[in-house]
Amino acid sequence: TKLPADPEKENYRRQVINACYSYVTPKKTANPSIIHVSDEMLESLGISKEESQSEEFKNLFTGNSTYPNSTPFAMCYGGHQFGQWAGQLGDGRAINLFEVEHNDKLWAVQLKGAGETPYSRSADGLAVLRSSIREYLCSEAMYHLGIPTTRALSLGLSGDEVLRDVMYNGNSAYEKGAVVCRTAESFVRFGNFEILAANQDHDTLKKLADYIITQFYPHLGAPSKETYLAFFKEVAERSMEMVLGWQRVGFVHGVMNTDNMSILGLTIDYGPYGWLEGYDFGWTPNTTDSQFKRYRYGTQGEIVGWNLFKLANAIYPLIGEAEGLQDALEDYKDNYIQRYNKMMLEKLGLSVAFEEESAFIQELEKALHKTETDMTIFFRLLSNLKKDKSQDPLSVVKEAFYTLDSMTEEVKEQWNNWFEKYFERLALETNSDQDRKEKMNKVNPKYVLRNYMAQLAIDEADEGNYDLIEEFYQLLKQPYNEQPESEKWFAKRPDWARHKVGCSM
Ligand code: AMP
Ligand code: MG
Ligand code: MG
Repeated sequence: TKLPADPEKENYRRQVINACYSYVTPKKTANPSIIHVSDEMLESLGISKEESQSEEFKNLFTGNSTYPNSTPFAMCYGGHQFGQWAGQLGDGRAINLFEVEHNDKLWAVQLKGAGETPYSRSADGLAVLRSSIREYLCSEAMYHLGIPTTRALSLGLSGDEVLRDVMYNGNSAYEKGAVVCRTAESFVRFGNFEILAANQDHDTLKKLADYIITQFYPHLGAPSKETYLAFFKEVAERSMEMVLGWQRVGFVHGVMNTDNMSILGLTIDYGPYGWLEGYDFGWTPNTTDSQFKRYRYGTQGEIVGWNLFKLANAIYPLIGEAEGLQDALEDYKDNYIQRYNKMMLEKLGLSVAFEEESAFIQELEKALHKTETDMTIFFRLLSNLKKDKSQDPLSVVKEAFYTLDSMTEEVKEQWNNWFEKYFERLALETNSDQDRKEKMNKVNPKYVLRNYMAQLAIDEADEGNYDLIEEFYQLLKQPYNEQPESEKWFAKRPDWARHKVGCSM
């Protein structure tokens, strides 16, 4: 592709055809500063601590300069939003800077909030501090939880003010502009394939598929019809792995549109996400989805299946027959239920398989729904239960309930019935209580980025204090470890924070 003489003049908004991306230039900002850097990502990219404190680093990762001989670009993608085809979307506020190869790993490096692109539609291409802190902290936390995700290198302030609607009163207000530098092997989404299929641009579709397979799925072999199908199956497998991770730790993405589904099975686009507080299949953090709750906790696995169906449609022209894709979609559904049960049994510390596991898990889920229960605390405390029945099980987990006092006798009985069965299962386990506890604590995190914690970090940062960002960044590097000095973050949400979740834009 030829480079534009003046890329800035080519950033105008438009429908882009026969292309996967457009060259763009990040926007210069009034008074850039870097407020946090991920020491781990620095290391992964081979950037030294000294370099990270330089003017060059600051300018590069806030979009105020570009790296010599690099050609920043924004990608073209479409997507199904809330179940409807939405046409061209694209990187409206993300700009890919370059790729870095270090320690045999390739990283795409991208800015979010660095100005408009051809894909900005009616929006400004910018991001505010609030949403940027949420993405920055949560993507790193997700990585340390062991769940596939994009990551983040730095969080910067642009020094500009950004106008945003305030959700609860319909007014607009100025907020601090911010730029996150995020990283991943690739930021390509299901939607990159969908837009090409929708435009019937099968040549570019094939180029994209061949590029992704050659770069990221090389073990599948040279591109062919069989390879495309194998590729689809692996995307399905990776996406399942990702969503099972979300269910395991109580993460609700909130905007699982197909433009927010990574072709590498990474958690991507941290917008109005949230963490379960009360254990509730019906909960979504997305206030714009409160009517249909399409993206609620309990449907995330199913939605991944729906999104895979859309990806299957998009790559169908490369394969020309539906049967293999249909089988793969069926397999996804069957495997998901089995794998979900297996994951739940791991959370419960049970390794001996049994017939009625589905019913057993559902009974637990019903009990968890009956009383507002903190999921993280429940599973973490459950590991303290001894199989000799010397404890009252409800008292072992009592800190997990928001309203234990109001628990009715009927619900208590429901709990005790479930615990009876749990003790029966525990009796069949051959490992010691201590072994089981250690195993459980490897899949049940002690610390997650509770919604109100992110809010506290945001409130402080608004005042120019970034200490909590650093504290949470460090805390969430070891989410499964006891950190006695941080015990206060292993606590139920305070009352003021009930249902208070920051929003996406
Ligand atoms: P999301 O729902 O955040 O995944 O965004 C959907 C689409 O809107 C994507 O194409 C984004 O790039 C675009 N978008 C979101 N926020 C902005 C913004 N502030 N400026 C430009 N485009 C945006
Ligand atoms: Mg998005
Ligand atoms: Mg977004």
